[in-house]
Amino acid sequence: MLLSGTVVADADTVIPDGAVVVEGDIIVAVGDRSTCRDQYPGHEHHACDVLVPGTVGGHVHSVQSLGRGIADDTELLEWLSEYVLPMEASLSADGMRAAAELGYLELIESGTTTCIDHLSVAHAEEAFEAAREFGIRGRLGKVLMDKDSPAGLLEETDAALEESERLVRRYHGVDDGRIRYAVTPRFAVSCTEACLRGARELADAYEGVMIHTHASENRGEIEAVEDETGKRNIHWLDEVGLTGEDVVLAHCVWTDEGEREVLAETGTNVTYCPSSNMKLASGIAPVLDYLDRGINVALGNDGPPCNNTLDPFTEMRQASLLQKVDHLDSEALPAKTVFEMATVNGAQAAGFDRVGKLREGWKADIVGLETDITRATPLHDVLSHLAFAAHGDDVQFSMVDGEVLMQDGEVLVADADAIRSRAREFAAEMDVTA
Ligand SMILES: [Zn+2]
Repeated sequence: MLLSGTVVADADTVIPDGAVVVEGDIIVAVGDRSTCRDQYPGHEHHACDVLVPGTVGGHVHSVQSLGRGIADDTELLEWLSEYVLPMEASLSADGMRAAAELGYLELIESGTTTCIDHLSVAHAEEAFEAAREFGIRGRLGKVLMDKDSPAGLLEETDAALEESERLVRRYHGVDDGRIRYAVTPRFAVSCTEACLRGARELADAYEGVMIHTHASENRGEIEAVEDETGKRNIHWLDEVGLTGEDVVLAHCVWTDEGEREVLAETGTNVTYCPSSNMKLASGIAPVLDYLDRGINVALGNDGPPCNNTLDPFTEMRQASLLQKVDHLDSEALPAKTVFEMATVNGAQAAGFDRVGKLREGWKADIVGLETDITRATPLHDVLSHLAFAAHGDDVQFSMVDGEVLMQDGEVLVADADAIRSRAREFAAEMDVTA
């Protein structure tokens, strides 16, 4: 397929009248449109206004999608214990499937082609199967909770790790490596030391398996960890093996100098979730400091009950604006930097090579947006538009591994009406006050 339009190959490379040529799952050429058409005359042609690398959601909870709007105006620990954990505990396998499908539908419709997805304790295979069916690229994991957790979610340590290993064997690397596994403790508060150390052992036992957890999102959380372990949260996670290049820590809002040194020295990935951090009043992650230290920072929407949208373009805008006002510095986190966070940095965090840029020899994960719309007029600077004005609704085309997931604004890999209808049915039955 030959895709033509203004090609944003990466944050530094914009080709105004460009093209991307795809063969199989790989990009074979990126360049001037007429040159590409001459070189690849037999390819099916599809025109978009703007072509960009598919965005990477560096931290999401697809299975929380039925909880959009159930827990506004609460802070993290109450939000979890009163609303989100009871919701997760109450979902049947079919409900979990409906939630995951709604989440992936929203991600695909709004321009995300890869996600790091923190699932729930039970029925994780429903999300794996939905991700496979829809063709999204994903690093997914069943959640581990073996202490201080509500009935319905609390598991025995060994049983939780054994179930994780079963899922690793079943799903890690399937579909030509498009689906990969992350061992996923909920957070240090709800996991024993044995569970956290077991997560590291499991990740080490299988090549390419990573670890994904929440860390230092909220002050109450880090106080709870410090009361129990005598250590700051990142130091505790480091002690039990949950730092390193194969670890993605969501949030890292409340970290001190020593903890930041650990994150940098170990090459740990951090996912910045500005909307979630603002809405739950968690705080402002020290992202500029992380970037200065060379820490890889991805961007994440977190889940529908704390955001309440999975739109990556809105998240780029929030990411930049929050840092600008925090530092009272209008130059903080410019468009190029947030675009990199939402694309190539996210792919690096998720452990996918040759993803996150439109490059010859890289994976054909491509999104097309329309810009013949009022919000995009005039289009002086396409990077500025993507970071500050674009919206997920502008996405018209999506491709992962060379497979077209959405074209002309229509999702081809799923029945969107049926997914929304099932989601409404299960949401109506859901017990959110258990
Ligand atoms: Zn989260």
